[in-house]
Amino acid sequence: MNTFEVKAYGTQAADAPIKLMNIDRREVLEKDIEIEILYCGVCHSDLHTAKNDWGFTAYPAVPGHEIVGRVTKVGSAVSKVKVGDIAAVGCLVDSCRECDNCKHNLEQFCSNGMVGTYNGKDKHLGHQTYGGYSEKVVVDEHFVLKVPANLNLAAVAPLLCAGITTWSPLRHWGVSKGSKVAVIGLGGLGHMAIKLAKGLGADVTLFSRTPDKTKDALELGADAVVISTDDEHMASVKGKFDLIIDTVPYVHDVNPYITTLGVNGTLVLVGYLGGLEPILNTVPLILGRKSVAGSLIGGIAETQEMLDFCGEHNIVSEIELINIQDINEAYERMLKSDVRYRFVIDMASLKK
Ligand code: NAP
Ligand code: ZN
Repeated sequence: MNTFEVKAYGTQAADAPIKLMNIDRREVLEKDIEIEILYCGVCHSDLHTAKNDWGFTAYPAVPGHEIVGRVTKVGSAVSKVKVGDIAAVGCLVDSCRECDNCKHNLEQFCSNGMVGTYNGKDKHLGHQTYGGYSEKVVVDEHFVLKVPANLNLAAVAPLLCAGITTWSPLRHWGVSKGSKVAVIGLGGLGHMAIKLAKGLGADVTLFSRTPDKTKDALELGADAVVISTDDEHMASVKGKFDLIIDTVPYVHDVNPYITTLGVNGTLVLVGYLGGLEPILNTVPLILGRKSVAGSLIGGIAETQEMLDFCGEHNIVSEIELINIQDINEAYERMLKSDVRYRFVIDMASLKK
């Protein structure tokens, strides 16, 4: 397979910083699109992967799955875009496309294993996939998204993960005008959940541990903010919500939130991966036919649907643009929940 080298930022170990390295990319195949990366959002999953929080990171790890760029080369059979177009890539770069889930536009649940944009198994090069903290990416056109022309490109990048990860449960659980939705945690995913749920016409409440994010949440469109550490405040929304999207990245007690669900309500975990502590109490679930569920990003068609919706409703992320050289400091701030509300890397800084 013909390959070429590009500059990237990645890490060699869980306790090592992210730094400059070279990686290989394949030369475009028939159906491939080569994209020069202009902007890449910084997701908390990048940090989990770099630090091996989930225990399955292959090193070197080059994170980044909120990619917006310009098409620089296309294979002979590509029809989706042409050289010079703006294109985007999210969390998925491959799947079998033949299993039942793939055929139903659920590539993220591919029975034969979806390939993540980073830390996945690259079917062409054999090693792990490398993400968007790099000059260029080469992706099969099926996994490339089109970007609405009216949106700011840097602020679009976070839609490719934070946007679709919150859009998918909003759609799956049928959120529409008048639905009562709550969001736990005001970070990258949380702020997109507020904007998208509002866009769908829902009544939206934020649960946050951080009182000084209240003003921002209201400006982002939330109708109310409940400080999750305040028991009285929590009691004031007992039995209220149809759907809660829980974006908290680390183990936490979900029991207090279950009591804020109405009958038939669902709490969807999209953040933390692993066993819950303290133990989940089934009593309020049984007494209210409530559900606790999970959700993983979204399929390609649903991602395009979300981007088109954002184009129509003028929805983008609230971003802080950074240089790639500042990525380690950005991770430190993310760990302190000090992101307002998504870091996006200006990839032009890679040339410095
Ligand atoms: P983020 O920007 O760091 O935001 C997380 C927010 O959660 C924080 O701003 C904070 O909000 C709250 N929080 C953080 N630590 C907490 C703790 N220990 N207890 C309670 N609340 C806490 O992260 P993100 O990029 O939105 O990602 C959130 C999680 O989703 C990560 O674990 C990421 O890996 C995961 N993720 C999952 C998918 C999927 O497909 N399921 C896709 C993308 C990301 P407040 O200050 O308001 O409390
Ligand atoms: Zn992500």
